[in-house]
Amino acid sequence: MSCKYCEKKEYIVTFEESKDFEGYVWVEGNDLVVDNDYQRTLVEINYCPMCGVKLEKEASIMDVINAELNERVKRNEL
Ligand SMILES: [Zn+2]
Repeated sequence: MSCKYCEKKEYIVTFEESKDFEGYVWVEGNDLVVDNDYQRTLVEINYCPMCGVKLEKEASIMDVINAELNERVKRNEL
């Protein structure tokens, strides 16, 4: 089971300090992202704070490329 927050990356919280300063909090992969106009902070989390589902690390494009390269090296293609 998962929810719209960990599955669809909907904002859990938005805040507006002023007209020019807005912030958002959402789940991306296994990170809780806190973002505003000045900085983005990522906090690694293991479980969705809203529904409690265990979160899996999203494979980045570099992970995919490295895995492919390792396979080719093993097969002596490189
Ligand atoms: Zn969730």
